[in-house]
Amino acid sequence: MTRQHPPSNLFYQNRQRRPMIGEARGIYIWDADGKRYIDGSSGAMVANLGHGNERVLAAMRAQMEKATFAYRLHFENEPAEKLAQMTAARMPPGVNKVFFVSGGSEAVESAIKLARQYAIAVGESSRWKIISRYPSYHGSTLGALALTGMDNMSAPFAQMLREMPKVPAPTCYLDHDDLSMDERGLRYAEMLRAEILAQGPETVLAFIMEPVGGASTGALVAPDSYYKRVSEICREFGILLILDEVMTGAGRTGRFLAAEHWGLQPDIIALSKGFAAGYAPLGAMVAHERLVEPVLAHGGFIHGYTYAGNPLACAAGVAVLDEIDRLALSQKAQDMGALLKAELIGLKARYPFIGDVRGKGLLLAFELVSDVETMTPLPKAMDTHIHLVEEAFSRGLILYSRRTRGGVEGDHFMVCPPLILTETQIGEIMEILTDSLDAFADKFDLPRGN
Ligand code: PMP
Repeated sequence: MTRQHPPSNLFYQNRQRRPMIGEARGIYIWDADGKRYIDGSSGAMVANLGHGNERVLAAMRAQMEKATFAYRLHFENEPAEKLAQMTAARMPPGVNKVFFVSGGSEAVESAIKLARQYAIAVGESSRWKIISRYPSYHGSTLGALALTGMDNMSAPFAQMLREMPKVPAPTCYLDHDDLSMDERGLRYAEMLRAEILAQGPETVLAFIMEPVGGASTGALVAPDSYYKRVSEICREFGILLILDEVMTGAGRTGRFLAAEHWGLQPDIIALSKGFAAGYAPLGAMVAHERLVEPVLAHGGFIHGYTYAGNPLACAAGVAVLDEIDRLALSQKAQDMGALLKAELIGLKARYPFIGDVRGKGLLLAFELVSDVETMTPLPKAMDTHIHLVEEAFSRGLILYSRRTRGGVEGDHFMVCPPLILTETQIGEIMEILTDSLDAFADKFDLPRGN
């Protein structure tokens, strides 16, 4: 591949040109030369419905014929109203005020601003700090970036953003002690309590987390004890709980919201990615009504985007939610996720450098290490996260990988195909993945079992 920069992405230095996309259908993508790829990561955990869903396309075509844009200060629009109702119906009790945006970062920005305006409206203007986890990813705009726990992403902007306090993400699988997983989970939750006390509880506005970690920690699931205790701690100090379900929402983890696995009662939820499944740029910030009422009584929400509630994007969202129900995709994520996870765990015998396999539903990942006992990462200079992904890509399997920087070091690989996945397709994925791991092991002379 050449190093020539594509005109649309010339800001990314040293980035190899990627193939031109041709068509995409179901879990497959063909490039312009006709080579087929399995979309093993649904893009960036977006295309939950798969590509080219006829019902969604038909709904979008129908809306396009009517109106593609309506400015929210001039007109209501039916798709936005319908989508708001459908969204609210899928949220925990009381979390029913829906604010549309165009992506995940905007959903998080909106959550930050609503939380702050709520505090002011109820006479608690001393509260402004939002505690997040380290590492974590909440978006790339400056507000969301202040919550994001990834040093390399925020460092250039240090002076320009108000860095928010961070607590360690519950990477219990890396801990070496005699504690049970639940005890470790509690230990991490108590770190939140200690941070709140250190900051001064009267200054803390909210705690934000991804219920299952995504790009930063690679499908990190905490022990049950963590979720319960974190919720208690937020309640103890009157701190809002914001769930970033941008990646986990819309069925990905086997429930519509990951929050449902633990009966979490968040005050605000951020949605995007699977919410419109790649058919339109769409996201939502959904808030508990008890937050919104004081803000409205106090002059209204000072925030908004031109494309908010765009009728075409919302028509796509309505059709996507309908399809999630019609195809029972949350259940499919559970069933296919269990099968795929078992297959991934099975790889550990053949590839002793697979240190961990984790995740929920079809939000799955595996992590490669140089020593399974100590979970020592492979040397950074190996660029494992790039090499294995390229081995897979060249064989027609798309994975999403990161080497986490900050907090914990490690190369993880997300295996998150569309939720319409079949058992046969799991076989296809595993075949290419095995070939790719073989090639990767050969290249770096890594040990292999049978
Ligand atoms: N939050 C989470 C959990 C995410 O995974 C992402 C995207 N990776 C974002 C926020 C930001 O979303 P976007 O890129 O659509 O702005």
